[in-house]
Amino acid sequence: MYHQWRADFPILDRKVHNHTLVYLDNAATSQMPRQVIESIAKHHMQDHANIHRGIHQLSEISTKKVEDARELIAQFVGCREGSIIFTAGTTDAINIVAAGYREMLTKQDAIMVTQLEHHSNYVPWQQACFRSGAEFLVCPAKDGELDLDYMEEMLKTRQVRLVAVAHVTNLTGTVNPIKEIVALAHRYKAKVLIDGAQGILHQGIDVHDLDCEYYCFSGHKMLGPTGIGVLYGKTECLNNLKKVRFGGGMVDLVTEKETTWGPIPHCFEAGTPNITGAIGLAEAVRYINEHDFLAIRNWEEELLAYTVERLEKIEGVRIFGHPKIRAGAVSFEIEGVHPYDLASMIDKMGIAVRSGNLCAQPALASLGADKAVRISPAFYNTKQDIDSALEAMQRVIKVLL
Ligand code: PLP
Repeated sequence: MYHQWRADFPILDRKVHNHTLVYLDNAATSQMPRQVIESIAKHHMQDHANIHRGIHQLSEISTKKVEDARELIAQFVGCREGSIIFTAGTTDAINIVAAGYREMLTKQDAIMVTQLEHHSNYVPWQQACFRSGAEFLVCPAKDGELDLDYMEEMLKTRQVRLVAVAHVTNLTGTVNPIKEIVALAHRYKAKVLIDGAQGILHQGIDVHDLDCEYYCFSGHKMLGPTGIGVLYGKTECLNNLKKVRFGGGMVDLVTEKETTWGPIPHCFEAGTPNITGAIGLAEAVRYINEHDFLAIRNWEEELLAYTVERLEKIEGVRIFGHPKIRAGAVSFEIEGVHPYDLASMIDKMGIAVRSGNLCAQPALASLGADKAVRISPAFYNTKQDIDSALEAMQRVIKVLL
């Protein structure tokens, strides 16, 4: 079945250093199917105009496409109450919420993140705490699993306003028990923001069922384009969240003495949004909706399990974290081999993997490391891709050791 999916991704036919591309860096950015690329090109060629600003035909068409995209994404994530706000990506979405909180936090308050977070769900909260005087709490993790007893202890003893946690972590690929975390936080009146950057494609989501206050994700990690993302928020929370961006499109009345805000979601979208980004993201959602999501997920799971199984056989390999449930990615180091050397040498064989600190320095530090190599397959990858990557790695290891 993956042959059929694979044919939708034109980039997979290109050559890199004279080898056919083996793309295994999907956790950084997934590739776009032809349908998404064409929807963006078509919009640029036929309907390109600004939205919500004109009554001419192109503006009306563009506005409708963006609002239809919002509606489709709302259905896709199970949003029944609350709103879909377009942002530039996950980082941008988290910053909107964290900066809003920064203006409301006091010294008696605390915010809790976890040791496994991507910097994007760590630094904005750290800075909000540093600037407001609130306490910055970091829930520890052991071998890629969060310590929920610590989380509960902190919730019990501190005035934790919000818990910010990844759905799926980008270093260890841990699928966190987010439903349990939401219920736990709510027991102690804390709100929850879920960083869904890695979760949205590999796990799917129903925000209504999950009951989290905020859920964020990026278009470019779910078959869409870069520069577009989503912040879902419950209405009551968005009503209370301080606005931190001001300008056109988000206001109702502006006078010298005061400004009143437009309705949610527009009051959080100052300025011209990424119109083609929203259109491309909607096409990515349509693509996922039209395919057998369960089959996609099963194949991804099989590929990842196969990767882990083959990795474990390589001498000197240390896999980071052994979570109960893993999705999307596996990271590791090889004794005596620098991750950059490994990644750059297999790049010469056409194989794309990620190396470095993976924007997860606290997570790596908790595992006693500072760099990793990461393989992150997507459903359009094959076992042959994994074989090619691991055989190339083994050849490089022989040269380097
Ligand atoms: N959160 C996680 C778990 C991620 O993996 C990433 C990107 O790798 C981000 C946040 C940031 O996403 P973006 O750069 O699209 O804002």
